Amino acid sequence: MSRRSRAKGPRVLVLGGSTEGFDAADALVAAGYEVVTSFAGRTATRRTPAGFARVGGFGGASGMAVYLTIEDIAVVVDATHPFANKIKTNAEIACREAGTPLIHIERPPWTPQPGDDWRVVPNLRAAAEAIPGGERPCFLTIGRQEIRHFAGRTDIELVIRTIDPPETPFDHPRASFIFDRGPFEIEAERALFAERRFGSLVTKNSGSDAAAAKLTVARDLGIPVVMVERARRPEGVAVASVDEAAAAVAALLGSAAA
Ligand code: NAP
Repeated sequence: MSRRSRAKGPRVLVLGGSTEGFDAADALVAAGYEVVTSFAGRTATRRTPAGFARVGGFGGASGMAVYLTIEDIAVVVDATHPFANKIKTNAEIACREAGTPLIHIERPPWTPQPGDDWRVVPNLRAAAEAIPGGERPCFLTIGRQEIRHFAGRTDIELVIRTIDPPETPFDHPRASFIFDRGPFEIEAERALFAERRFGSLVTKNSGSDAAAAKLTVARDLGIPVVMVERARRPEGVAVASVDEAAAAVAALLGSAAA
């Protein structure tokens, strides 16, 4: 666990790996709580959060329940990505087992705007099937962990944007990678779409502001978007923003700084 600020009030575990995770740690440390942000450890580099950090899995739901008890965690704030379903389920089970309150930050999903050509699909396998054929490349922005679903679409060129290279080689005769990390600005996205002449876009409906510019560009260019829907709403207290999460923590624990 690395330390950046003086520990004070009750301990809050933030399940991180998202912008909201860092923002939640900032807000909760400023409010006087002792905060531990947990990362899966997927990316080679990451920002340092306010408070403490821990890296790596807990060893399933039971491992997390033990952690919550041993570390005397008063509340868990799930700020993981809307598509990180396993850790969300683990948090629900672990919090139930340990009797620890759980708050989910559920950022609102993107919704289609006039001019959008979205093909909404339930999962990545369906997304691969839904990509329209054609000569122009498909821009794949779904992260590196599940690109295997697209290996069969050898009829199209794939341009895959991820933070880090895939852990296992991706076997596709017409795939190339762009390694980059958001936030992605609109002008840079416009330039990329123009340079690479994308004919389609695949994305998960993360609802992230930092990743929304590509949707505007696709709309402006009339490019179809294969949009993967979220699987389910999590259990527990669901809030839509970091401010609401901080208020929910204060309602549960009282104000640590007071
Ligand atoms: P996942 O499938 O839901 O979780 C797989 C396993 O990774 C979990 O069972 C857990 O291992 C570990 N894990 C995940 N998040 C963790 C966290 N914050 N702290 C400690 N352990 C964690 O997760 P994923 O989709 O691989 O995502 C991994 C991380 O990347 C998440 O923190 C998420 O916020 C972030 N992320 C995900 C996406 C996405 O599209 N899925 C996009 C951007 C960022 P144990 O069972 O051993 O505890």
